[in-house]
Amino acid sequence: SNVLLQVDNLKKHYPITAGFLSKQVGAVRAVDDLSLTVKYGETFGLVGESGCGKSTAGRTILRLLEPTEGSIHFQGDDITNIKGTKLRQIRKDMQMVFQDPFASLNPKMMIGHLISEPIRNYSNRSEKDVKDEVIQLLEKVGMDSETYYKYPHEFSGGQRQRIGIARALALKPKLILADEPVSALDVSIQSQVLNLMQDLQVDFQLSYLFIAHDLSVVKHISDRIGVMYLGRMVELTDKHSLFAKPLHPYTQALMSAVPVPDPSKRSQRIILQGDVPSPASPPSGCSFHPRCRYAKPECSEVRPLLKQVAPDHQVACHLY
Ligand code: SF4
Ligand code: MG
Repeated sequence: SNVLLQVDNLKKHYPITAGFLSKQVGAVRAVDDLSLTVKYGETFGLVGESGCGKSTAGRTILRLLEPTEGSIHFQGDDITNIKGTKLRQIRKDMQMVFQDPFASLNPKMMIGHLISEPIRNYSNRSEKDVKDEVIQLLEKVGMDSETYYKYPHEFSGGQRQRIGIARALALKPKLILADEPVSALDVSIQSQVLNLMQDLQVDFQLSYLFIAHDLSVVKHISDRIGVMYLGRMVELTDKHSLFAKPLHPYTQALMSAVPVPDPSKRSQRIILQGDVPSPASPPSGCSFHPRCRYAKPECSEVRPLLKQVAPDHQVACHLY
């Protein structure tokens, strides 16, 4: 099979409790019935506004959060409920790159030690062996070997992200979950980091699950793209179809905000009305209906299911 990761009907709900007895009175449906696949060597871009559940989905898929329902298969194995040693072994093959790579790391630790920490956790190779490996990793991400002896504060945002990527690569994972890895960087630096990630993908035979709020970022790097709204996938297709013919009104609105080189080809910017509603009380029917310019009566009553409308193009909208 060419499928590395298969996610089916994944849900992550957080109970809302009230009163002295903490009775459950509802649930925040952060991720609600999400399905996707990531193939070997592929980049799957997961896009949506902040609060749409994409980070929660990513963390649940990596089993950093407990899934409420649904299933996750990785390399053909069901990892939905695995624990202990089995989970630890799987974690090795699924690593993360964060928006701020050092937010979760010890700022007093030397870069060499930060990168080698995962290797030491998973093997008992000799000091020299590990150090050689780390220096090689640094070179792969475009940093010189002196970096080994320095500290996080000595580096720029782009350099820190390169170091964060080196750390994620240390265990030679199969999948990297990249959660907004370039959103904190200047646009010129963004493309350098994205190019690096693309080179490393070939070199290390990686698959990426790439999360971003910005379609122009995922456009660069993705093979296929899923658009999320309020915990659900509203459109899923390959990059070319999505950019040539976005079908869901929400995708069209996101797309109209993407800058294009030729201004005459720019479609009119669609301004979305209002904020993203709370996933604790999502609107009835199509949860996008209060913001949709095509909404019809049916839309507030019947929830549209994701359906195939063209080969490899799925959309959840009553217009299709
Ligand atoms: Fe808009 Fe209706 Fe489609 Fe939802 S189902 S996106 S409200 S047209
Ligand atoms: Mg997020």
